[in-house]
Amino acid sequence: LSLFNKIPRAPPDKILGLTEQFSKDTNNNKVNLTVGVYKDDKGLVSTFPTVAKAQKILEQGEKMNSDFSYLPIIGSPSYRISTLNFLFRDSCPESGPKLLEQERVSFVQTLSGTGALAVAADLLAQFVSRTVWVPRPSWPNHVNIFKRHGFSDVREYPYYEDGKLDVDEWITHLRKNVKKNEGVRHCIILHACCHNPTGLDPTMKQWQQILDTIHELEMIPIIDMAYQGLESGNPVRDAYVLRMCLDKSRYESWPHGLFLCQSFAKNMGLYGERVGSLSVVVPPNQPDSKDNVESQLKQIVRSMYSSPPGYGCRVATMVLSNDNFKRDWYKNVETMVQRLLNVRQGMYDRLGWKGLLNFEQQHGMFFYTGLKPHALNRLREEYSIYMTMDGRLSLSGINDSNIDYVCDALKAISD
Ligand code: PLP
Repeated sequence: LSLFNKIPRAPPDKILGLTEQFSKDTNNNKVNLTVGVYKDDKGLVSTFPTVAKAQKILEQGEKMNSDFSYLPIIGSPSYRISTLNFLFRDSCPESGPKLLEQERVSFVQTLSGTGALAVAADLLAQFVSRTVWVPRPSWPNHVNIFKRHGFSDVREYPYYEDGKLDVDEWITHLRKNVKKNEGVRHCIILHACCHNPTGLDPTMKQWQQILDTIHELEMIPIIDMAYQGLESGNPVRDAYVLRMCLDKSRYESWPHGLFLCQSFAKNMGLYGERVGSLSVVVPPNQPDSKDNVESQLKQIVRSMYSSPPGYGCRVATMVLSNDNFKRDWYKNVETMVQRLLNVRQGMYDRLGWKGLLNFEQQHGMFFYTGLKPHALNRLREEYSIYMTMDGRLSLSGINDSNIDYVCDALKAISD
């Protein structure tokens, strides 16, 4: 008997499985609100104007490295410089430059944000910790990634319940369950902004309390910054959690490191090009740490996929390394966010469900309804409106042609 008979069917991906179902749906009114890909007001996934311009220049000019040779294992050197500048100089002007000068940031170009999380998990599991805290709810792939990459202990911290972010409960839960002297280091995933799926983020004051607690408990922050710019429309402004973590007047250092997993998928529209990075901020006064960590990141990448893809990172580098391009890119992000805000407001005006949701604080690409699976099944079966089963809908799939249809259906199933 073939051993292949022993391989069971894996469950479909919670989000991408719905997209497959959507493509088979024959209802002309069908609306796909599942995946977090930005679509314009005509329902099209279009390239950001600045990104398209950078692409054109690359293709025409000598800068296009026209061979398809391998990149170095840890990525393109020019992408490294421009991304580090963007993250640690532009986004953290007070604290970041010093960290770079002191050689305290290990860096690797990654297969977007997912790749950054996977490489971070591999490194941590091998040398530092196999325990990670993930918010409940969270992007479902967090648990998948950390379990697959060596974490034996994946725990959840209470984040959201019945329309509310519960920061006090979050802090109390950590204080009760994380003991800094027990010999086990605990990692914690923090959504830098635009929490997925709820769209609810703590206020600055709450972040302060949270970070103080995490620091006091000597936890290891893993900042997942997949939506930088989608909260306020300004990528620099949205890096506030990173800035707070690195503010020396608050925290002298993170004694077991700080991990930043970053992606240009959403804020440059480079989804399928897989352009992202992992930065590890190492503690001070450990002169070898940065290079040691980077050498291990290199080993991990070598064995996982050998080297990252070369095209998308060249486009991102072009945008990041030229001040005019960068300024125009920021404007593109602002335009995208303005449209998302208009759609959110349009839905709020039509729905007026104040009781169920905490509308004001929601940010980013998603609108979290809190609807339960039976209601979501009705939406799909009766109206061909597809949302993820955690009750999240992607605002980017909504435009003038379907907003009334979607809101009427939401009202009908929640009556
Ligand atoms: N983290 C969160 C919270 C996300 O929502 C996503 C994408 O949906 C990612 C990370 C990673 O995305 P990508 O690998 O496309 O950069």
